[in-house]
Amino acid sequence: MGPPGAGKGTQSKKISQDFGIPEISTGALFRTHVANQTELGAIVSAIMEKGELVPDAVTVAMLDDRLTQPDTAPGFLLDGFPRTVAQADALDQILATLDVDLDVVLSFNVDQETLIQRMLKRAAIEGRSDDNEETIRRRFEVYTAQTEPLLALYRDRGILVEIDGMGTVDEVHARIMEALKK
Ligand code: AMP
Repeated sequence: MGPPGAGKGTQSKKISQDFGIPEISTGALFRTHVANQTELGAIVSAIMEKGELVPDAVTVAMLDDRLTQPDTAPGFLLDGFPRTVAQADALDQILATLDVDLDVVLSFNVDQETLIQRMLKRAAIEGRSDDNEETIRRRFEVYTAQTEPLLALYRDRGILVEIDGMGTVDEVHARIMEALKK
């Protein structure tokens, strides 16, 4: 977990390689649907362009489907899900059905100025259509209003680990591995 630009995607890829488990990014799954011009892609593209959240029912159905694929058997890492209380509740139900426990929730802390610098850099490199100033601002608001409250939920369960997300990719990755060892 963490606001846009906190490093979730970058660090997820590294952790999934280290542990040999798939990293499941709902944002990446949606972008693939948009690129492949699927029915779901047509539904979500305008929502993503605005920086709003895709409706919970749509997101949960896609994630549920992904989690039943066999590559998740050794474990998996979620990136960008859950993002709302309803999604967190749905995740609990899905995991109960699969008889799987959520081991840890990582949350990245990065100061606002650094987040903006990272987003602008990514906009120049990757050309994501939702990395423009107006949409970025909206995505921060949505994170604060809808997703940040989930941190308390996972903190209360004793599985939230907060990571200092400042510094280089390798520095942050080292902190994550240290925290996971504990
Ligand atoms: P991300 O790649 O995680 O930054 O996600 C990009 C966009 O995809 C978000 O701004 C949302 O529009 C959509 N999205 C990704 N994950 C979710 C989610 N869990 N719930 C709702 N919308 C999502």
